Amino acid sequence: MIRVIEPATEEVMAELPRAGVVETDAAVARARAAFPAWRALDPAERSTVLHRLAHAIEDRAGELATLEARNAGKPISDAGGEIGMVVETFRYYAGAPERLLGKTIPVAGGVDMTFREPLGVVGLITPWNFPLTIASWKVAPALAAGNTIVLKPAELTPLTAIELEKVAVEAGIPEGVLNVVAGPGSVCGQRLVEHPDVAKVAFTGSTEVGRGIAQAAAGTIKRVTLELGGKSANVIFGDADLQAAASSAPLAVFGNAGQDCCARSRILVERSAMDEFMSALEQAVTALRVGDPLDHETQMGPLISADQLETVSSYVNGEAPVAFRGSAPDGPGYWFPPTVLAPVSNDDRPAREEIFGPVACVIPFEDEAEAVSIANDTIYGLSGSVWTRDGARALRTARAIETGVISINSNTSVRVSTPFGGFKQSGVGRELGPNALDAYSEVKNVYYATEPGDPEAGEAENIV
Ligand code: NDP
Repeated sequence: MIRVIEPATEEVMAELPRAGVVETDAAVARARAAFPAWRALDPAERSTVLHRLAHAIEDRAGELATLEARNAGKPISDAGGEIGMVVETFRYYAGAPERLLGKTIPVAGGVDMTFREPLGVVGLITPWNFPLTIASWKVAPALAAGNTIVLKPAELTPLTAIELEKVAVEAGIPEGVLNVVAGPGSVCGQRLVEHPDVAKVAFTGSTEVGRGIAQAAAGTIKRVTLELGGKSANVIFGDADLQAAASSAPLAVFGNAGQDCCARSRILVERSAMDEFMSALEQAVTALRVGDPLDHETQMGPLISADQLETVSSYVNGEAPVAFRGSAPDGPGYWFPPTVLAPVSNDDRPAREEIFGPVACVIPFEDEAEAVSIANDTIYGLSGSVWTRDGARALRTARAIETGVISINSNTSVRVSTPFGGFKQSGVGRELGPNALDAYSEVKNVYYATEPGDPEAGEAENIV
């Protein structure tokens, strides 16, 4: 049995059967059987069903947000926003089935055209930090492109994915098109990666597991999309609006209790602005409301698990240069106060490793060249920000930092309609926006000879 724990109380909130290889294989078989009819569905009808699913999720938004808030320990206001994004994601991709356009390419002797074909059964492996949101980033484009799905949520947070499967069937997604398997990653996830009938795996989680997935996927030349870790830089130049930068920095790293791959956990500050910035940052950090996820005023909840609490605590030991901390409740729950370490060298362990908890490192820099060099001195490249009033420097720095997404004078990373994904060891491929559809379809080229004698036939055979 999987015992699902509520991180704010440490109490069991649900028990459910734990799936293994047999259940995973059965889910793949159901998805395989459902594929021909789903891919053949008239595009307008596939679009209608996805719109209905978006609607059905919206109707149950309050219930799903509460379930997510309790299971992931996230503030209910955040969970409400996340379910809103899930609805938006299904709506956005509901427009896609009729827009999976191909090309015609001028050639001799006939007509050449391309099609975007679905891959078949796709395996989706999702983490515990944004359970339904990240699932929707994968499920919606995969369905829109005509694939069928086996979704494996994290064992710590399987509840909203299980609800999604039920809501999907009620909304008219045919049985077998979306199958949820709740079980351990090392068993069910691994099986999806190795299964010969799974055409692609899309994964969000740790870089370490992602590396193993890339290796295992090679056995069947499986397509992979990997959204992995981050150690993103929030670069603050002395000419920036320091109040705005300081008041938005805390939630850019402590949001979701720091369990966010986009967390701007390295705050790089131009040395000349350090004192002013730090005093504004301290006010913002100590004002953060940390507590009961179900209280609408709460801005930060507990960590996901006792293991995560232990890991995060290991970065704030006796020698850590703690500049200041926010508050955290006493009593049951995996609580850790928002913590700012300063000054930190980029070579120190807290600046190098993805902590995945509410710990920020403040790193001073002298000038633009040093800021870019520190920002890029990491194995990761997922997200980040640049704060300055100098427009040319803003764009220069944004282009120079090796990262998949970056914001100027803002700490936002993700929008439904724009691509999201990492450089370097933060991953491979892009989710969201128009790009996600490429990750769930293959390009097929069709040549139709229209001229007698087909002048190109011999030439092509000679080449290949
Ligand atoms: P994992 O990478 O282990 O888990 C992510 C997902 O992968 C879960 O569904 C997990 O299943 C599954 N999984 C685990 N092992 C395998 C495997 N061998 N084959 C296929 N799937 C597998 O993350 P953790 O939960 O262990 O978190 C550890 C660290 O990872 C965090 O501290 C953080 O640094 C990072 N992380 C990053 C995330 C991001 O958004 N980039 C998200 C989550 C974690 P299950 O958990 O059910 O066993």
